Amino acid sequence: MTTHYHLETLTVHAGMEPDPVSGAVMTPIYQTSTYAQADVAVHKGYEYSRTDNPTRTALQQALAALEGGQHALAFASGMAAIDTILRLIQPGEHVLSGNDVYGGTFRLFDKVLSGYGVQFSFVNTTDVTAVQAAMQPNTRLVWLETPTNPMLRLTDIAAIAQIAHAGGAWLGVDNTFASPVLQRPLALGADFVLHSTTKYIGGHSDVVGGAVVLNDTAVYERLKFLQNAIGAVPGPMDCFLTLRGIKTLALRMAQHCHNAQQVAHFLADHTAVSHVIYPGLESHPQYELARRQMAGPGGMISFILHGGEAAARLVARETKLFTLAESLGGVESLIELPAPMTHASVADSPLAIDPGLVRISVGIEHAADLIADLQQALGQIR
Ligand SMILES: *Cc1c(COP(=O)(O)O)cnc(C)c1O
Repeated sequence: MTTHYHLETLTVHAGMEPDPVSGAVMTPIYQTSTYAQADVAVHKGYEYSRTDNPTRTALQQALAALEGGQHALAFASGMAAIDTILRLIQPGEHVLSGNDVYGGTFRLFDKVLSGYGVQFSFVNTTDVTAVQAAMQPNTRLVWLETPTNPMLRLTDIAAIAQIAHAGGAWLGVDNTFASPVLQRPLALGADFVLHSTTKYIGGHSDVVGGAVVLNDTAVYERLKFLQNAIGAVPGPMDCFLTLRGIKTLALRMAQHCHNAQQVAHFLADHTAVSHVIYPGLESHPQYELARRQMAGPGGMISFILHGGEAAARLVARETKLFTLAESLGGVESLIELPAPMTHASVADSPLAIDPGLVRISVGIEHAADLIADLQQALGQIR
């Protein structure tokens, strides 16, 4: 779909063609594995649903339009999407990864793919000089997240794209935390945009999925070959749910940002809280970069309590609207403690998270109710 439409329009219309058979306005769930052929190898573009499925096609078109890319491929999970991109890298080649990427990404790189001869090094991508220094002659891919999880560190995508390209490497940006509404990495020079559509894009905590968006047609053809060859594809129902989520993505992101900004101010003023990390607060070390690179600071907040881990556990247990759970980006607010939950696997590494750090995914409820809930939970700290 042409990109002259505003994002709000694209979320509703991209990938949406009335169904050619019935005129159905909403993309049907093509719950089929195979397709009738008029004659041997004569078909309508669909042969087998691992290769292509019309509901997936619609989702892929929508995702490409949202990121301003030429092509998108949908996968069964964010990890499946990352793994498929990494199959572009040959043994003996080097990948330069951010050092506080999603734990599952670190595990895939460090515990799985490094066993197949791909070399990895992990650097602080917020430090442009450190990235430059870590580039090697065989670096084929630079991989980063911005904002990161749960420290919400930002990386200057345009600056790293220049370094990667000067070294003959691709830049992949995991845009899960920002969503295409708040950040468009391809426009800043990235070659791949990665999404766990499980999070903001799906937005309702009811589906697991992933996607890659890119411009280069030759690389897309290779990835599409890999998508079919490996087969980690999403089912049509999951594609439908993700498409349905996309229609309200712009509205939801606006409300996530609005609520999170208010919750962040509330937390920053609370006497039980020692430190709040949120890119929308001037106290964030990269507040200026956030304003330049993102259309809004997002819905994720991390904070540390004076009472340390015991206080953090109490608050996570006592909130009522904020459900104690992993994951993020749904309409409902969630709370978790990264150190013993999502980030337990990095406990013994330099990336270990303060056990008293609390991460919240601020939902789209009324901000006053969310603040009141946090207030009553924080009030129970003795
Ligand atoms: C959740 C997540 C992933 C992995 O996606 P799945 O859909 O869970 O496989 C990758 N990157 C980030 C930033 C995530 O939050």
